[in-house]
Amino acid sequence: MSMMHDIPTLLRSHDLRLTPQRLTVAGLVLSKQAHVTARGVYQQLKDDHPALSMNTVYLTLGQFEACGLLQRFEMNGNAVFDSNTARHDHASCSRCATIIDLPGEEDEPPWIPASLLDWQIQSEQRIWTGLCPACRTDSDSAQLSD
Ligand SMILES: [Zn+2]
Ligand SMILES: [Zn+2]
Repeated sequence: MSMMHDIPTLLRSHDLRLTPQRLTVAGLVLSKQAHVTARGVYQQLKDDHPALSMNTVYLTLGQFEACGLLQRFEMNGNAVFDSNTARHDHASCSRCATIIDLPGEEDEPPWIPASLLDWQIQSEQRIWTGLCPACRTDSDSAQLSD
């Protein structure tokens, strides 16, 4: 997304009517770099917005995805919505669940496995998993103290 626009301008430019739910959800997920699940967004908003339902959050995120404001990927069986819509891979920490972006080279053609050469590939995305530096340090020091 472009950070040049404020949220109402951004929504209007994607032919989305300005509803309170859209403005609320957009304020959380489109105003900064975010990797969110519908449940996570709902948890963060429900206290201040009691009228908002989990289903509305999910539908709203789907609308943002459909018009290109978010992209979506699956991680551990959850749909994760990403405000970075450029092609990129992810790394996920298996302990603290942090997700970081691995920027891809826009011009670089994606590497395609030989068994997919007959396919017309529309997208590809890799998720690297492991321990992030903070969790890795924790596990190293835990081992030393044993
Ligand atoms: Zn971690
Ligand atoms: Zn991302």
